[in-house]
Amino acid sequence: MKYIAKKPKEGINVSDVHPLVEAGTLVVGLTAIFIAIVLLLVFLIEAALYFVPAETEAELFADWLPEDLVTISPSDDRLYEAQMLVNRLSAHWADAPYTFRVEVDDSDLANAMALPGGLIIVTQGLLDEVESENELAFVLGHELGHFRNRDHLRALGRGIVLSLFFAVVTGNDVAGIGINVADVTLRGFNRDQESDADEFGLAVVYAEYGHVDEAWRLFERWDEQRNGTTGIVTYLATHPDAGDRVEQLERLAQRQQWPAEGEVIPLKW
Ligand SMILES: [Zn+2]
Repeated sequence: MKYIAKKPKEGINVSDVHPLVEAGTLVVGLTAIFIAIVLLLVFLIEAALYFVPAETEAELFADWLPEDLVTISPSDDRLYEAQMLVNRLSAHWADAPYTFRVEVDDSDLANAMALPGGLIIVTQGLLDEVESENELAFVLGHELGHFRNRDHLRALGRGIVLSLFFAVVTGNDVAGIGINVADVTLRGFNRDQESDADEFGLAVVYAEYGHVDEAWRLFERWDEQRNGTTGIVTYLATHPDAGDRVEQLERLAQRQQWPAEGEVIPLKW
């Protein structure tokens, strides 16, 4: 008997499901996988932070500096005054696990950042923008707030936090992780992290001076001169809108009944 191959029926590769429904299923599936990966990474970072307590972090990074940091002269008055101010402000944080170190980066772009081990970097550009000690105190207090919530490690990115964790576990030198100022500069925090840091910063300013006069004056000026100077762009790129911030801080001070008027201290340089 002769075998006659039957032609396959038309459309066997076409599913009965409408193509749009199939596409939808695919999108939903991929989104679910993506969300699961993000949640897993967030969980891993929190776990890594839990296993590397602030005390360990402070010890590991005691003398550490980022590889690409270009500092101003160690005998510069601005560096000395900023360090003295941080010492006074951090004294209001009882049992702080860090010994805070200040370095002044020679960049003209205004910025301030918190780095592992209690290192606070402010740029010359920022020091040129502040007009009173009270203004600088709030910027520094805000960075202390990021240490308090350990946002500074989260902002480094998953890769670095996980290598930090593995460096600790395997006893390797953390210097090899390779953290650069440039990596951190454009990585912002989320709104909640920012407003928590602002609350802490303002509380510290109030504890130091007994009032919050001029604490957010810098942001008021920046809000008024919006697009005025390019030097403030980096700070604003990584921090909330200056105007919104002023409103929030005013409300916070009212709620806490922190006096808005008081002696404003001139800069010593
Ligand atoms: Zn911040």
